[in-house]
Amino acid sequence: MSQTELKDIKEFVKEWKNNLAKEIVANNIITPSLGIIQVGNNEASNRYVRNKIKDCEEVGIVVNLAQLDNDISEESFIECLKIMANSSDGIIVQLPIPCQLQNIVSHIYNYIPDNKDVDGFNPTSKFYPCTPAGILKYLEYCNINLDGMNVLVIGRSEIVGKPMAKILTKYNATVTLAHSHTKNLQDHIDKADLIICAVGQASFLNCAQIDVPVIDVGINFVNNYMVGDCYNTNNNVTPVPGGVGLLTRCALLQNTIDAYKINHML
Ligand code: NDP
Repeated sequence: MSQTELKDIKEFVKEWKNNLAKEIVANNIITPSLGIIQVGNNEASNRYVRNKIKDCEEVGIVVNLAQLDNDISEESFIECLKIMANSSDGIIVQLPIPCQLQNIVSHIYNYIPDNKDVDGFNPTSKFYPCTPAGILKYLEYCNINLDGMNVLVIGRSEIVGKPMAKILTKYNATVTLAHSHTKNLQDHIDKADLIICAVGQASFLNCAQIDVPVIDVGINFVNNYMVGDCYNTNNNVTPVPGGVGLLTRCALLQNTIDAYKINHML
């Protein structure tokens, strides 16, 4: 059996949020603010934005929400980014954005300063992307010592897999970054002390024979039910829903408060 056990994520998130709220009071941080730019009226985006606003309210972060029309021009969108950059401590652009703005996706970060890019999507951002940042914090809470550990990360996206592998390497883990061209994935699974799965396919990873912790990043919908990438799960696999999504949301709060501190030289 694995010696490493995962702890209750919901308990952890509660504790993390309490600490963030206390940190705001302790540092006399009066109004840390998060600027959210949303374009159009996508149902999933609306839900994500609502959750982010609720999270911010819980810990004492002010939200500046710009809800822009779906047919907004590039110029007006850029103008909004500039206004947000002047008025908020952290800024995020809620995806997806409509096709007439796709051209500017690659240079969106020309208008979001690195010390305000709290999604951490730009490589020069001062912040880790929220999903790997949240997972790292949770692993620390679980007392998982990454030093020398064999960690298998499955999926090499720019916002999850790659930054996760980079962070784990920084913490002296021995990291294998698997992807769709990886041969004999099972061999890597068998050698791993910890697995982080971010593939985006329901029923991808059978956990029946896996006795090391598994962090299931996947969000998939099957018959309108949200499921992760893993099946035959146990207590040592993070749940979906109620798992990594919550960590990601908390990491955004943490990044926003950290952005406030950087911006105000605290
Ligand atoms: P992408 O969809 O961008 O990439 C998926 C990765 O999986 C790719 O690197 C791909 O390899 C790899 N892959 C596909 N098939 C296989 C295979 N058979 N074996 C090994 N690797 C494979 O990933 P994202 O990181 O954006 O998203 C992954 C999942 O995580 C999605 O379900 C997404 O919704 C979810 N997610 C959840 C978050 C949360 O907060 N809980 C946050 C962000 C994402 P290749 O590069 O070769 O194509």
